[in-house]
Amino acid sequence: MKKCEYCGKEISYHEIYCSDECQRMANRHYDRTSKFLRLFYSFSMVGLIGLTIGLFLMSFARFMGGGLAIGCCLLLAVLLFLLPMPTQGMIRKRGIKKAEFISRMVGFGFIAIALLVAGLMIWL
Ligand SMILES: [Zn+2]
Repeated sequence: MKKCEYCGKEISYHEIYCSDECQRMANRHYDRTSKFLRLFYSFSMVGLIGLTIGLFLMSFARFMGGGLAIGCCLLLAVLLFLLPMPTQGMIRKRGIKKAEFISRMVGFGFIAIALLVAGLMIWL
C-alpha cells in the first residue's frame, strides 16, 4: 500500500499526499531544505566540533570547557527545532512528519546533554 509522503497515512496509487494540507506541509519542508541545507550543515558542524572541544577542555579547564560544550548543545538544539532536517532514508521510511518530529527529539537530546554538562560542572 502506498503512503502519504507527509503523514504516512495509506493512500491510493494515483495520489502522493492524502490531503491538500499534507501537500502544503511537504512543499514547505522541501522549500526549507533547499534554502537552508547548507546553513544547517555549517552550523551543525560548528556545534559538534565545539561540543567535542568543550568536553575535551573540561578535563583541565572545567568552566571554560563546560561553558563551550553547553553553548554548542544549545546551538544544536535550537538549530534542530528551527530546521528539523531528517535524512532522506528517514523520510522514506516514516514520512516527513514523523521524521521531523524525531529530529526535534534529537534537539531535546542535546538539551539533556547540556544539563548533564552543567551538572558535572557544579558537582565535580
Ligand atoms: Zn497525509
